[in-house]
Amino acid sequence: MSLDPLDLAVLCCLVASVVLYTKKDDIFNFLKGSDSLDSSIGVSSGSSRDLLETVLTNKKDFLILYGSQTGTAEDYCKKFAKELHSKFKELQILCGDLENFDFDQPNTLGDLVDKVKAVVIFMSTYGEGEFPDPCVNFDDYLNNLLESDELKGLPIMIFGLGNSTYEFFNGAAKRLKEKLVDEAGATLLGEIGAGDDSVGNTEEEYVAWKDKAFDIIEKEFGLEGGDSSIFEPMYDYTKFEGKDDVVYKGELNKQYLSANSNKKHIGPFDQSYPYLAPVASSYEICAPESNRNCVHMEFDISGSNIKYETGDHLGIMPQNPQENVKHFLKTLSLNGDEVFDLKLKDLTSSLPFPVPTNIETAITYYLEITGPVSRQMIGQLAQFVPESEEKIKQKIIEISSDPNTFHKEVIEQNLNFSNCLEQISATFAWGDYIPWTFLLETIPTLKPRFYSISSSNLKDQDKIHITAMVENSDPNKKVYGVTTNLLNQIQKREQADQLPIHYNLEGPRSLYQTNSITKLPIFVRKSTFRLPKNPETPIIMIGPGTGVAPFRGFIRDRLIDNPDADMMLFYGCRNAHDHLYKNEWSDEYEPALKNLKVFTAYSRDPNIPKTYVQKLMLDQKDAIMEALMKGAFVYVCGDAGTMAKQVNDTLITIVSDKQNIDITQAQEMMKAMKLNGRYHEDVW
Ligand code: FAD
Repeated sequence: MSLDPLDLAVLCCLVASVVLYTKKDDIFNFLKGSDSLDSSIGVSSGSSRDLLETVLTNKKDFLILYGSQTGTAEDYCKKFAKELHSKFKELQILCGDLENFDFDQPNTLGDLVDKVKAVVIFMSTYGEGEFPDPCVNFDDYLNNLLESDELKGLPIMIFGLGNSTYEFFNGAAKRLKEKLVDEAGATLLGEIGAGDDSVGNTEEEYVAWKDKAFDIIEKEFGLEGGDSSIFEPMYDYTKFEGKDDVVYKGELNKQYLSANSNKKHIGPFDQSYPYLAPVASSYEICAPESNRNCVHMEFDISGSNIKYETGDHLGIMPQNPQENVKHFLKTLSLNGDEVFDLKLKDLTSSLPFPVPTNIETAITYYLEITGPVSRQMIGQLAQFVPESEEKIKQKIIEISSDPNTFHKEVIEQNLNFSNCLEQISATFAWGDYIPWTFLLETIPTLKPRFYSISSSNLKDQDKIHITAMVENSDPNKKVYGVTTNLLNQIQKREQADQLPIHYNLEGPRSLYQTNSITKLPIFVRKSTFRLPKNPETPIIMIGPGTGVAPFRGFIRDRLIDNPDADMMLFYGCRNAHDHLYKNEWSDEYEPALKNLKVFTAYSRDPNIPKTYVQKLMLDQKDAIMEALMKGAFVYVCGDAGTMAKQVNDTLITIVSDKQNIDITQAQEMMKAMKLNGRYHEDVW
């Protein structure tokens, strides 16, 4: 992780304040560690475009930008741009990805003063308060090129997307404000919006922030606002009657269309051009007695040019289950075979998915139809319901205008979009009134799901392993995770008839099937979750559940580069039936790595008291403190919720106790370790 000057300043202050303490030598060693700063994200900005030129050439006067890691910030940004356009017709809006503009020049933003009314930025926070990977160049610009007071006179609005289980909650959005407003003199309009994914309130926070933002924009720029909920198509929709071989049937990139079917794909691969990786093998990790499923899957990447490093993430592009697709088509009376094309009305915007395609394909491969539905989207349906259907209209308004009612009637019932329509009325002819164009523009696009790679690039060069817990925790609710059930079907394809939902494993034009081998569209995303560069550095790994996945990779790395390394793994699961890779730890790794210590906590074993990883850490406080004093790196990975916070608190307790310092100082030391790249969290 590279440090910017502010980080360094904060770190220096923290170090300075703690070294003043009585145990200054010990503490200095503790903070310094034995390794240099950990490696940074190594992603380039991609295409280089001139922001000012784009604004001027396209006669734009309002800029909305996003920095997105998984696509959520992008979705909200585009939604905001669309609503803003509906409300204030006179605004000429440019909406774009920060990654698509060149921030290598000084004045990139400064040149916009007096050229645009305002700049709105949607920014997600990643890792330890960092910008998303695609914003590496923008981050450099903020740190190195942005001059003091350069943005005087430029109004800025910020919406942050984060997760409060992380220490640096919405840290990227806050840093944006520090740089653009506090240092460069831009004017912050309103407050920073702070979406919190850990409590699922991003949607509600967005709606509240947006309403205020619209009021501010209206007053600040003397605009007259219309109704932002009235749907206005962004694309020209036409039926397509051309040749079939140019029609997308679920291919994610034109490189996979029929004309290129024999082509060798050499990448570089990413979300929009994933690699179709053969599934080399897969097996169930949970014992037959367990009521859960966890799939270990290995992808063959030989000959693909894909390189990964231990600790990286694998992105998998899923498809929707056929049952959900059928339900959606039926509820909305859609003709799945209708082939259509979309043309941009505004050339500075982009298409939501590849076209021409047909409706069934869009629903299967390109749109997120199974997840929780948004209150705002349900509210927008009222405009399509005729006055003669007063009861339906009223019901829509009733459930969508109050967040609590919506939560009770929709979210708590785990309804997706088509379930929700059915719940409102199972007999109303939804398809007669709701335009398909509204659906294709309003339903978010199907996003990749990420998995911590559980293999090692040193030991498993041609393979990428993942460890995926199948999401169907409550079969009574009939809510199933899209990707993990797809992986489960591939692993259990012989017993597919016993599975609750089913996928088309053949894929578009049978692309995903060669003889009996199934392929899936994947790509590697670089991560900052990296082993210390020096293989001698001790490591402490805490990973309950599938949080253990990257640590399997770390341990496999050490089999190759330093079998003597000091390593502690704190692993937690419910009981022996869910004990992931149980035999690998005991039979393969512990005998080969003499300084690897694995501590396992069972939280639901009837024969022993409930035990969590934090308890085992406290039991090992002497060993943990000793490792920290030797410069150990700490890694925490796993399910969001409260785990990462509790692990952090446990470490603070241990350090405070063993170093005989107060809690505040121990907290500062943990914070400094995070800034110093010695304490990594990968929590989802
Ligand atoms: P989704 O379809 O995304 O559904 C998510 C959850 O919502 C499920 O529990 C599902 O049952 C529920 N749901 C679906 N529809 C509804 C509805 N209408 N209403 C209410 N709830 C609904 N996971 C692992 O197992 N192993 C890993 O190593 C791993 N590493 C990760 C690393 C990173 C960096 C990140 C960000 C995540 C990681 N995850 C990992 C989580 C993983 O990305 C997925 O989120 C997870 O597997 C679920 O994906 P899915 O497509 O199966 O479920």
